[in-house]
Amino acid sequence: ESAINRIAAGEVVERPASAVKELVENAIDAGATRIAIDIAEGGKTLIRVSDDGCGIAPEDLPLALARHATSKIDGSDLLNIHSFGFRGEALASLGAVGRLSLTSRAAGHDAARIRVSGSRIEPVQPAALRSGTVVELADLFFATPARLKFMRTDRAETQAINDVVKRLAMAEPSIGFTLRDVSGGGEGRVTFRADAETGDLFDALHHRLARILGRDFAENALKIDATREELRLFGYAALPTYSRGAAVAQYLFVNGRPVRDRMLTGALRAAYADFLSRERHPVAALFLDCDPTLVDVNVHPAKSEVRFRDPGLARGLIVSALRHALAEAGH
Ligand code: ADP
Ligand code: MG
Repeated sequence: ESAINRIAAGEVVERPASAVKELVENAIDAGATRIAIDIAEGGKTLIRVSDDGCGIAPEDLPLALARHATSKIDGSDLLNIHSFGFRGEALASLGAVGRLSLTSRAAGHDAARIRVSGSRIEPVQPAALRSGTVVELADLFFATPARLKFMRTDRAETQAINDVVKRLAMAEPSIGFTLRDVSGGGEGRVTFRADAETGDLFDALHHRLARILGRDFAENALKIDATREELRLFGYAALPTYSRGAAVAQYLFVNGRPVRDRMLTGALRAAYADFLSRERHPVAALFLDCDPTLVDVNVHPAKSEVRFRDPGLARGLIVSALRHALAEAGH
């Protein structure tokens, strides 16, 4: 059982950034309004995610760590996935490859903690916590030395975590995020911070993008808002004259999840083809929303690829909406 856990875990948790992604998505699913992420040594020795969400009742703590246990789906409804989590695998996987402690307090309950290390689950203990949930993951991959070898430098892993947190923060402007590097102990150093945005969808997103990509992006960004059949595309795309040098800054989301998808980036490139040389990449943060039954987000365990029921429709919408916005802006 524990060997099986470790093999499956490797698919979900490739590196510290994938652990951060799973934990932050859980906090978002729990209705958090503030999420704090602390990491040490690129997340290798410590990842701690604290939220002010709904919490977990003491008797449900062991269930949260069980494989295939999720509070978010009833099984009959596998395609109808609205929340981030739906596989019930993340915590079980993390508990198989690291030392995990889950401290939580749900309304009307006392706070409690459960620990698991290399799949060995310890009994639930009383704990002190005012509200929400704190998940601490120490010594990632200590139980799987083969995985340890594949980890890159602290700097590279920290960079990957930064990227994951920024993508999730873009998708959730109404949630406040703090990312802190606590390597070496103490208070640590805040490396990213975005306070919760208020206001309508576009105002909040525009502010959040200014925070993450800079004022310069926000000032050069075209508002995108288009619908075709049951697909909606919205967000901001930069003028072709705006450049971030060689850096690729494309942030794509499907039903609120960050994705990396060839078809979608291809559509983005096609929309800008007349205005950008091959070496330059369009800069954009775009959200595609549709009925969850029209898109399969379960192509890969890391959940970053997507498969549309009708890929042509998604591509067509992106290309036409962006070309239209560019034309309106005089291109
Ligand atoms: P999934 O997110 O796919 O349901 P996970 O293994 O990530 O599976 O989490 C298992 C369960 O633990 C969740 O369904 C949820 O009930 C609970 N849980 C995990 N993290 C949190 C959190 N931060 N706040 C409240 N509940 C949580
Ligand atoms: Mg989850």
